[in-house]
Amino acid sequence: MNEASVLVVGGAGYIGSHMVLALRDAGHRVTVFDNLSRGFADAVGGVPLIRGDLANPADLDRALQGRHFDVVMHFAAYAYVGESVAEPELYYLNNVSGSLNLMAAMRRHGLKRLVFSSTCATYGEPEQLPIPESHPQRPINPYGRSKWMVEQMLIDQAAAFGLQSVSLRYFNAAGADPQGRAGERHEPETHLIPLVLQEALRLRQGGDAAGTQLKVFGSDLPTPDGSCVRDYIHVDDLAQAHLRAAERLLRGEVLGAEFYNLANGAGFSVLQVIQACREVTGQPIAWQTLPRRAGDPAVLVGDATRARQVLGWAPRHGELHEVVQTAWAWMLAREAGEAHAA
Ligand code: UDP
Repeated sequence: MNEASVLVVGGAGYIGSHMVLALRDAGHRVTVFDNLSRGFADAVGGVPLIRGDLANPADLDRALQGRHFDVVMHFAAYAYVGESVAEPELYYLNNVSGSLNLMAAMRRHGLKRLVFSSTCATYGEPEQLPIPESHPQRPINPYGRSKWMVEQMLIDQAAAFGLQSVSLRYFNAAGADPQGRAGERHEPETHLIPLVLQEALRLRQGGDAAGTQLKVFGSDLPTPDGSCVRDYIHVDDLAQAHLRAAERLLRGEVLGAEFYNLANGAGFSVLQVIQACREVTGQPIAWQTLPRRAGDPAVLVGDATRARQVLGWAPRHGELHEVVQTAWAWMLAREAGEAHAA
């Protein structure tokens, strides 16, 4: 696609910061809008950062006034299932109200093209595997419900005002920029692969395996080894799919609200992930087994045929070891940087 001007809302977060890199690599002009509540200013890689909050329409007006954006990409959401169960208000305020404010601001400023970060958590317990987009959407936690509500709003905004949107339902985002320029950073960290790698790092630094802090949630699920199975998709593959979605929007091919799964179509259990991390890091990672986490389906694997066929997208880093390798390289580089700075 020709050079486009893209506003990345939530561009200082994990997936957003990888999106900024992919857009810049593809020659586009990028501006980030972020409140830095969960992201990091140094993650946006030197592109203009407008510090603002989706809760505040005046912040959005300030960002959109006098600037032109061909496409808006929206990553600014809270994404912890457990936290959403404990604090649903936070999720409905930030994820639902915030998205509504963004759509309203886009309408005020004549912007019509939006790529939205959605999630497989909008499906709930799978009735069919791998999960296609036509699967019933019955989310089982406030996080999934908040994203589902935004999807519904996008359909209504398309009918009422001609908003053109592509929602991308991610399975388990993982890994780091293959060139080592960005990686996964959450505080607190709750995601499996970084937690397993943190344990590997502790061992590498002389910790002993018996002192492991790593927890495996669930050993009695109806899966081959009893632990949960997930579809891990490399963050760079996610970013590439957003580029394809933006191209489709810019070609005028999206007439309303479209929805696509982004997945590899292959599931790995928690224990298989740990094994891959052992192989990549060379560390004898150990763990404690705990009961399954509330709201965790046993298996989530996605069918991304539609994204392949319509967006022309295909994952390039589908191999679990490669996903882990990129995350490990990033973790080691950060560690070295921190040691150097200390
Ligand atoms: N998980 C685990 N221990 C952890 C974190 C996660 O066993 O410390 C499991 C979790 O129950 C799920 C899988 O790893 O089955 C992936 O969890 P994550 O939080 O990374 O992503 P989610 O699937 O919740 O979006």
